[in-house]
Amino acid sequence: FHCPHPGCEQSFTRRYNLKTHFLASHIGERNFVCPICDVGFARKYDLIRHGSL
Ligand SMILES: [Zn+2]
Ligand SMILES: [Zn+2]
Repeated sequence: FHCPHPGCEQSFTRRYNLKTHFLASHIGERNFVCPICDVGFARKYDLIRHGSL
């Protein structure tokens, strides 16, 4: 599971670890959250791009 945060290169073997990392490192930036993956994005553009993959 790769961190979707722009510029963040970290990846994790478990989604739980990614979520923990995301909340710890990028908290306050989850303005746009994917309803399927529960992954947050700082910009609406990134969420749209994620959903179109
Ligand atoms: Zn990250
Ligand atoms: Zn998603």
